[in-house]
Amino acid sequence: MRRRLRHAAWVAFGLIQMGLYALPASSVVLYSLCMMVATTAGALVHLTYAVRSHGHARRVWTITGLGLACWAFAEISVGITAAGTGYAPPRSTLATVINVAAFGFAVAGMLSIPTAPRGAAGKLRMVFDGLVAACALMGAVWVLLFDPLSQIESPSSAVIDLSYPVLAAGVLAIAMVLLSGQSLHRRTAMRVVTGGVVLLTVTLLVEVIGNVFGIGWLIPAVHGGYIASAGLLALAPLAPLPQGAERTWAPASQFGNVVPYVPVVIFIGIGMTFVLQGRSFDIETVLAVVMLVVAVFGRQFVELRLNAALSRSLAAERERFAHEAAHDALTGLANRHKLTTELAREPVSALLLVDLDGFKAVNDTLGHSAGDELLVTVAQRLREAVGEDGLPARLGGDEFAVLIRHGDVGDARAMARAILDRLAEPGLPAVVGASVGIATVAGAEDRDHLLHEADMAMYEAKNNGKGTYRVYDRELAVLAEQRRRLQAELAVALAEGQLFVAYQPVVDLASGASHAAEALVRWEHPVRGPIPPDDFLPTAEDAGLLVEIDRWVLTAAAAQLAEWRRTDPAYTIAVNLSVAYLVSGRVVEDVRAALREHDLPGEALTVEVTESSLIADLDAAATTLREVKALGVRISLDDFGVGYSSLTYLRKLPVDVVKIDRSFVRELAWDNKAKVLFKAVLDLVHALGLTCVAEGVEEPRQLGQLLAMGCARGQGYLFSPPVTADLVPIGPHRPRPRMASATP
Ligand code: C2E
Ligand code: CA
Ligand code: CA
Repeated sequence: MRRRLRHAAWVAFGLIQMGLYALPASSVVLYSLCMMVATTAGALVHLTYAVRSHGHARRVWTITGLGLACWAFAEISVGITAAGTGYAPPRSTLATVINVAAFGFAVAGMLSIPTAPRGAAGKLRMVFDGLVAACALMGAVWVLLFDPLSQIESPSSAVIDLSYPVLAAGVLAIAMVLLSGQSLHRRTAMRVVTGGVVLLTVTLLVEVIGNVFGIGWLIPAVHGGYIASAGLLALAPLAPLPQGAERTWAPASQFGNVVPYVPVVIFIGIGMTFVLQGRSFDIETVLAVVMLVVAVFGRQFVELRLNAALSRSLAAERERFAHEAAHDALTGLANRHKLTTELAREPVSALLLVDLDGFKAVNDTLGHSAGDELLVTVAQRLREAVGEDGLPARLGGDEFAVLIRHGDVGDARAMARAILDRLAEPGLPAVVGASVGIATVAGAEDRDHLLHEADMAMYEAKNNGKGTYRVYDRELAVLAEQRRRLQAELAVALAEGQLFVAYQPVVDLASGASHAAEALVRWEHPVRGPIPPDDFLPTAEDAGLLVEIDRWVLTAAAAQLAEWRRTDPAYTIAVNLSVAYLVSGRVVEDVRAALREHDLPGEALTVEVTESSLIADLDAAATTLREVKALGVRISLDDFGVGYSSLTYLRKLPVDVVKIDRSFVRELAWDNKAKVLFKAVLDLVHALGLTCVAEGVEEPRQLGQLLAMGCARGQGYLFSPPVTADLVPIGPHRPRPRMASATP
């Protein structure tokens, strides 16, 4: 629709222009009619848009609308007579004043559309661009017109007559500069309005030049120019106003930068012609040249400043990017990428890998923001501990590294010690330890293996009880290799039935009778013989096989239990649950299935959980255990007393049985304190209405003390070691294992 209107306007203009040339007799009539129509319609269009729109648009269209209304007034004041008689009378003073006001409105409208660039340098550049163009254009008009005009009239009235075209030249300069700072790709109202003003001023200048030099054939073109500029301005609101960043004056293109110099070239061209003709310059021309030179230099200076600022900010930006690419966002330490590049480039003596112990528990229980806070503090302490001697880095998660450039193994150990000490100091948002693995260049195969070797050493440190460091060496390499092999073999063992379950009877201490046993997994390795669970369960956990093993023990024990209960219907079995299994989300379903398959009541089964293994997510573990308990299964808290939150566990978990750890029982015979402690725990357990089992009873003296203190049940080598199922005595007619000799 708008496109068609635009095309129609061009066609109409073309016809009018042709008419102006072809019919000189009626050209005044045609011109007057066109001008009256264009300006009046324009005023209506603009004011309608002003009423309909808001904010900036309303402001712009009000100003331009008023300008067109003034223009229309000036045109109509002479146009009606001219259209009627074919002769245009001179304008009244009022009409002339209003006509000048129209010009002022048009310029104001044009200026109100764009916004100045931000920053003083950008604004200065815009002003200087305007000055350059204005000085050159006004100078050119002056040089071109003053002499011929002062020959026609007196120099003083020539000055007055010249003020109008010189002003127009200034406005033209401003319009050109404004245009140069706008995107040329979008047809916005900015371009239309400014284009209209450019056309208007150019026409005005051409008209003056035509008059002064008496060039008659220019007159129809001048009339056409006025009609076209009025038409352009009238239709401006049909194009959209520039929005947002588009409004900002910014000469982006080459074209935009060159525009202010086009008038300069014209000025110089005219000046050169005059010099060649041997004419002298008056003081005004010299002034214009001086101002022009100053403006050009000013603009160049600002441009240089702008460029310098731009390249400075580019450099800063590049530096920021480089920093971000090489550093961890949370802690600000170097990241893995930076560490590996430094490893390849810098002199390196050792690499430390620092892994927090129990960080996951912090994240799970205290939340991620606490976890983040902890990591930031740890990073800070790491930085302080390392100082100038190395490069600390965060590899991801709770894993950190330190690259040490100089020194030997002793220095690396000292650094590890310093880091562990610093991390152990109070003030962290949560208590965590760390395990450190050290790999030295001297002991490494090559640099590429440093990270891997430090990782293996760290793993070993973690396995050796956490809070320690370990240096990578050949022995460790062998150990790691063994573990790798063990993991592979374990998968085979599980599939080929090399695992079996041993049972250790739980005994009623007073009577010596046993109606319960604990299921303990065993691995009969085809070459190495029996491997104790403490040696292969951690490996199984790393290989992700622990859950499978526990599930297998559960089903095997359930089958065994069903068989034994045919002889002794009161018999029960306890199975151990690893944390991995407990949090796997399968325990409840597995237990229910095992019970159902062998038609066992829930109370025939007990599950044992160790407190040290539960820390990570106590609430989730409690939920799972409550569901297990709902099946009738009893819950036993294993190794009671060795962890540090025994009482919390007792309070939070649905416990039925407490197994007091072997270490307490061992001390009973000679340590009085141990005895007091044991008694206190026992009283506590009884007060809570729970059952107590003493673990690791090895000597008759211990048995006597346990009986004296009122402990009901026990388990240990004194009664029986864990044995294969066929050796477990079931039913009333079994020999009492070694109990006969057990006299207190
Ligand atoms: P636990 O649950 O505390 O099991 C008791 C451990 O004490 C067993 O070691 C047992 O052989 C040992 N023991 C029993 N009586 C005595 C004694 O009088 N003196 C001494 N010094 N030791 C005694 P075992 O069978 O080597 O198992 C070690 C640990 O491995 C278990 O500790 C348990 O935490 C874990 N475990 C064993 N079987 C399984 C299983 O099927 N699943 C899971 N998740 N863990 C298991
Ligand atoms: Ca146990
Ligand atoms: Ca135990």
